[in-house]
Amino acid sequence: MKFIFLDADGILVDAVKGFCKVHNKTNPYNDPDNLGKHNLDEIWRMSKQDFWKPCDQNFWETLEPMSDSGLIYEAVSGFAYNNGYTMAVLTKSGLGQGCLQGKKNWFDRHFPKLSKNFWVGFGSKAVCASPNNILIDDYDKNIAEFNTCGGTGILVPRPWNADKEHNFEKFIERLTVYK
Ligand SMILES: [Mg+2]
Repeated sequence: MKFIFLDADGILVDAVKGFCKVHNKTNPYNDPDNLGKHNLDEIWRMSKQDFWKPCDQNFWETLEPMSDSGLIYEAVSGFAYNNGYTMAVLTKSGLGQGCLQGKKNWFDRHFPKLSKNFWVGFGSKAVCASPNNILIDDYDKNIAEFNTCGGTGILVPRPWNADKEHNFEKFIERLTVYK
């Protein structure tokens, strides 16, 4: 069996918008100095505890989808179908109560087909790496670890990673290489 793992936050889920709202901050990626920086707690100089404190179940289940989430879902599910991959969500849990249930409820509402193959963990996504498996993620670190452990990582261009831009077309070009 071969898997294509799809990350949630920053790819399908507009977590940045939610974090800005809950912490009453403006989008930090409007400032060119913050492009390529993934961790909002570090950008905002907050402790991890303070950063995650307001992120309860309601926070996770009411986040908005990313503007291109439908396009990404269609592209990846088409790729999976045509190339014999099983598609699964692989997402890291935030700290705080209710994250797991909140995320599950979000998928039930927005992408119910993905809810059936949905994995939430606290550790490295590289535990799922193998020569047959692909990870689609927006965090450079996750992609690097997955590649190091023998899988294939495909980075989705976002303002907070090495691409420093929101670029759906570039992601499709990267996915197409594996067809
Ligand atoms: Mg992510």
